[in-house]
Formats: sequence, structure tokens, C-alpha cells
Amino acid sequence: MSVYLDNAATTKPCEAAMSAVFDSMLVNYGNPSSLHRIGLNAENDMNEARKSIAAALVCDPKCITFTSGATEANNTIIFGAAKKYGRRNRKKIVVSGIEHPSVAEPIKQLEATGEYTVVRIMPDRSGVIDPDDFLSAVDEDTFLVSCMLVNNETGAVNPVKKIFTAVKRAYPECITHCDAVQGFMKLPIKSADLMADAIVVSAHKVYALKGVGAMFIKNGIRIPPLVYGGGQEKGMRSGTESVPLIAGFGAAVRTQMPTMKTAYSNAEIICNYLVKSLSKLDFVKINSNFENHSPYILNFSVEGIRSEIMLHYLESKEIYVSSGSACSKGAHSSVLTAMGIPDKLADSAIRVSISKGTTEGDINALVNAIRDGYDSLAKTK
Ligand code: PMP
Repeated sequence: MSVYLDNAATTKPCEAAMSAVFDSMLVNYGNPSSLHRIGLNAENDMNEARKSIAAALVCDPKCITFTSGATEANNTIIFGAAKKYGRRNRKKIVVSGIEHPSVAEPIKQLEATGEYTVVRIMPDRSGVIDPDDFLSAVDEDTFLVSCMLVNNETGAVNPVKKIFTAVKRAYPECITHCDAVQGFMKLPIKSADLMADAIVVSAHKVYALKGVGAMFIKNGIRIPPLVYGGGQEKGMRSGTESVPLIAGFGAAVRTQMPTMKTAYSNAEIICNYLVKSLSKLDFVKINSNFENHSPYILNFSVEGIRSEIMLHYLESKEIYVSSGSACSKGAHSSVLTAMGIPDKLADSAIRVSISKGTTEGDINALVNAIRDGYDSLAKTK
């Protein structure tokens, strides 16, 4: 039986999501903009999903816009904030230096125009952004700050609430944006508590399908759209909505809400068991830090064995993990480097990301395979 431990890259859709997708395709297949009943039914499906995402973020459903995923949502907010708020003398962006490319790249594009200055705040040795470092870079020229909630490579949880609260107190006009993809449906997120003007989430990390995500934009914040056309999603995101994907997203979130706390406790038990089991292997070094850490992601290095080599060895045993982050496709991890992890260890980093269904048996299979893999691969070096 295979063991899937790459849930930060994507999750297997749950039954509730698949069944909602199917119903939407088979029954409520109308265009939600159509005025007849089949269209209205599709619109209702979408609004139910909107209510579920809003309940999970504790916000008004009117503040939720569906997009094609977190990448589009992050791009919309960053380019939109620059267009609307990054004008005249306010041209500065302060961002954590460990963002996902869907945040880092649009900001790089803005910087390349020569019109904006960007300050990137690197994490401390534990992989977490220090609020004092972040805040000392924010000033009256800053129109946008962006900080992810949970880092996708290490599981480090950033003090976003502390950072955004202080930014808003000193500079109420500065837009606060949080990529919460790896924290959503894992840690409790209350939009108002976080002091975020914009929050981004993705469906396929929470047991729904790929190709759909959502953004929360606080009432009163005016982010212009990235995509213009028929004016769907109150003009915030034109294009006929993918109702089946949206309905699946809503169903996945709805069914997980009551079990979020127990799932978290289970993830903690599994993560602790993994750490304990790995600590028996003296050639394994844990890179994730245990304070301010999400138990859903653990990053470690197998000394002397390059990540891809170990990944493919594990794959041959039907155990699926990631090298660093799936999105960086083997590129050197700037996150691990910023944490002071030597290149040699960073090159042998493995990311294990667990799901609500991961068992101690899965962890035993992984740890045994790492031990066997190390024995045979180290010999052939
Ligand atoms: N942000 C983070 C932190 C992520 O982990 C991912 C997915 N790898 C994304 C954004 C992009 O999400 P999507 O695949 O929905 O575009």
C-alpha cells in the first residue's frame, strides 16, 4: 500500500468534495449568471460555498471572491494594491523573504519596473519572521506589507497577527496581505483578529480540487481586478465561475470545520512520533523548529544523500515525499539558507507533509525506508 506524505503540495480530494463536484456537474450545471432555475441553482451552490469559506475565516461572505487558485488571488491583491494604493510618494513594499513564488514573483515584477522599492525580511534561525525586524522596515512610504502565515517548506508559523496589528496601529492606510494557504483549515484563522486586509486560501490543500481558491478582501479596501470581462464575482474576477470546483471547495471546508481541532491534535501526535522516530537515526538532522511550528509539515535532511536521490528511493517503495518544496523543483532553498542551514544539508532536505489520515504505520514505513535507503545509497557512493 502506498504512503502519501506530500500533502503540502496537494491533498487527495475527500468524498464530500467529490460528491459536491459530481452533483454540480450532473444536476446544477447551469451558468450562475443565467436567469432561469438551472442557473439560479448553480448560483445557490456557489453562495453556499461562499458562506462556508466565510465561516472558516470568520468574515462576511460578501468579502469572499473565488479565483482559479491562490496564485491568481495573490497576484490580484499585489498588482491591485500597487495600482490603487502604490502611488505618488507611497511606493514601498515590505515582504517576508520566505514567501511562496506566487507572492514573491509579482512583487519582483513590480520592483523590476523601477517604480517600487521592496524590502525583504529574512527569517531568524528558527525560520520565523521576527516582528521587530519586519516593523523596523515599515514606514510612511509603505503601501503594502505581505507575510505568509505558515511557510510551505518548513511549517514555520509567522507572528502575522502581531506584525499586522503593529503596522495598522502606526500606518492604518498600509494594506496588510497574508498568504494563508498552508494554515487554512489547520490553524484557526479569524480575519478580524489577524488584522489582514487581504487573505488568500487554496482548495487543493484542504481536500478539494485543484484550480480554485479564494481571497478575502476586507470591506472598504478597494483592490481593482486583474481580470476584466463579464463582471462576475461583483466585478472582482470576470469569467464564468467553475461552479463544480467551487461547490467541492465549499463541501470540503464545511465537513472539516467540526473536526479541525481533533485533526490538529492528531497531526501533533503524528509529527511528534515522526520526530521521535527520526531522532533514532543519527544521519538525520531536523531542519524545522518546534516553536511556532505547524505539525503538518516537517523538514529534515538525510546527511550525504541528495534530496532527489532519497525521494526516488522512497518512491520505489511507494512512499511519496517532497524535496524542499514542490514548487521550487529542486532549486536551492532560500528558506533553509536563511535559517543558516549549510548548503550540503539543504541539498539533502526532505519535506514530509501529513494529512488528516496519516497514521503511525505510515510513519514507521517512512522511517524504515529512510534507514534502508541510507544504508544502501551511502554504500554505493
Ligand atoms: N501559497 C502557498 C504557501 C502555497 O503552498 C501554494 C501551493 N503550493 C500556493 C500559494 C499556490 O496555490 P495554488 O496552487 O492554488 O495556486
